Amino acid sequence: MKGVFILELFDSHSHIEMPRLYPSAAAVVKRAKAAGVIGVVVSPIEPKFYTKALDLVERFPGYIWATFGLHPPRTTPRTVKQCIRLIREHSERILAIGEVGLDYYWEKSEQKRELQRHHFIEFIRLADELELPLVVHSREAEADAIRILKEEQATRLQLHCFNDSSLVAEAASENWFMSVPTSVVSRRRMQRIAQMMPLANMLLETDAPWLAPQPRQQNEPANLPLAVAKIAELQETTEEVVAESTTKNALELFNLELYKGKVQRR
Ligand SMILES: [Zn+2]
Repeated sequence: MKGVFILELFDSHSHIEMPRLYPSAAAVVKRAKAAGVIGVVVSPIEPKFYTKALDLVERFPGYIWATFGLHPPRTTPRTVKQCIRLIREHSERILAIGEVGLDYYWEKSEQKRELQRHHFIEFIRLADELELPLVVHSREAEADAIRILKEEQATRLQLHCFNDSSLVAEAASENWFMSVPTSVVSRRRMQRIAQMMPLANMLLETDAPWLAPQPRQQNEPANLPLAVAKIAELQETTEEVVAESTTKNALELFNLELYKGKVQRR
């Protein structure tokens, strides 16, 4: 990064509500601000973390934003019901529904995968009804996720940590957003995807505390500039261009705007 100009970056997906980061949230936010991060989305993976996410939203207004979702391997009819109730109750306070979707990496049983698909559709329809964007998790289930999203005619969405290079063009042609995680710094597979992904569809994410720039490290939003430098190199453009377009995309997806240097709802 060139010293005179701080890039304005937006972390579209993280888990600061998790026990590994939550106790040090104030320090994590301080370091993120110093690194040029102007906003961070937390996406709790199940209802037991929702109150922590809302607590962060309250403690860091206009900086930390929350979505409510359910990590697909945790899908049971009971947890889905609980999520839907809480999403409805808090629909004015959250930015989006997610992460929800499919995970065939952790779920090998065809019967339970069918259950995931069934409830994924339920969440897609809920997002449509509440006019909220959708944050999609699709680990090793990218083709099925895309098929279902198309069948349901979903439009405003983020494919988080999208990991299938053969489907990037298809997702881009739907005008969907895809987020590139900080692991792009060292992971060849993510680099191939970041190279081919149109900037018009790209968001930045850390998925902190996971997917750090280097394996086995703890991740946090302050690491975003490392990803921006790598993406700029892969796209043969400048860090400023990557920062500007990914931040603009995130604000558009989540219906936010930048006013006097601060993020607010549109
Ligand atoms: Zn995540």
